Amino acid sequence: MTKILVTGGAGYIGSHACKVLAREGYTPITFDNISTGWEEAVKFGPLEKGDLLDRARLDEVFAKHKPDAIMHFAALSQVGESMQVPGWYWRSNVVGAANLCEAAVEAGCKKFIFSSTCATYGDQDGVVLDEHSLQKPINAYGASKRAIEDILANFDDSFGLKNVIFRYFNVAGGDEEAEVGEFHRPETHLIPLVLDAIDGKRDKLTIYGTDYKTPDGTCIRDYVHVMDLVEAHVLGLKWLEKGKDSRAFNLGTGSGFSVREVMNAAGQVTNRPVPYDEGPRRAGDATRLVSGSSRAIDELGWKPRRSTMPRMIEDAWRWHQTGHYEK
Ligand code: UDP
Repeated sequence: MTKILVTGGAGYIGSHACKVLAREGYTPITFDNISTGWEEAVKFGPLEKGDLLDRARLDEVFAKHKPDAIMHFAALSQVGESMQVPGWYWRSNVVGAANLCEAAVEAGCKKFIFSSTCATYGDQDGVVLDEHSLQKPINAYGASKRAIEDILANFDDSFGLKNVIFRYFNVAGGDEEAEVGEFHRPETHLIPLVLDAIDGKRDKLTIYGTDYKTPDGTCIRDYVHVMDLVEAHVLGLKWLEKGKDSRAFNLGTGSGFSVREVMNAAGQVTNRPVPYDEGPRRAGDATRLVSGSSRAIDELGWKPRRSTMPRMIEDAWRWHQTGHYEK
């Protein structure tokens, strides 16, 4: 069976990707340092523990499994944290990705699917972002991902390492069967924090900034269901398997939800109040990030069927109530 090296396969998006890869007949080999992921989330193929900064360990794993392609999810991924420790983001994300590209090329693996982000576009208020939008990140997270896109272009030019880049908007929801789900340590993402506030796992949600130039003053994001998102990755893999050229795709829905709208939707789905207060802005936050995804739909045949706000909250809530990696 075709083997796919899934870096970050123990994390939120990576674990969902492994589930879908296995369902589609691939063998996902997880490479993860378990720093922010969960060993219990690796259920669909073998786990190789290791760090992307350890080139020798990477070479060992490539030699052992001889993967046909890479899905590279492993990264530090918090906007706020990236403004506090930018050097860590550059070292871990950028040097890690350069190591991975070198190891792949030396092992003869020439297909690379990369998790990039809408944070590479920065703050372009009022614009629906497409793949031609200018990439000018306003935080170290987005800058580090932008740099990796450049590394991939160089490795394509020099060695024919073909890439599909997915620029994610905000990923939410979870596996319908709640075998895997979203669970970060510490949790910083809006929807799981709202659910924590709803069921008393935390006192309240703090809204980061209510003075943005949006209708209700809070930031607007475009949310996409994690299962829809990882299905796009399988389509990206098939794209490269057909021998097509490197390509970047936005993954979002074209609809924006403010922080208050997400809270209201969660209140409705769970039928419970959301305790909250209002705090200052978080450094590095863009006002509004909304995607046009027609390229993924038109060229890959992507069908984001589950990416409605009630559905994403329902699936997140199911996992929240039933599943957990940490007892
Ligand atoms: N947010 C918030 N309070 C929180 C966490 C997030 O108001 O406790 C806001 C955040 O400022 C952003 C949106 O919710 O506007 C989504 O944030 P998240 O961290 O989930 O994803 P990001 O957009 O940073 O990738």
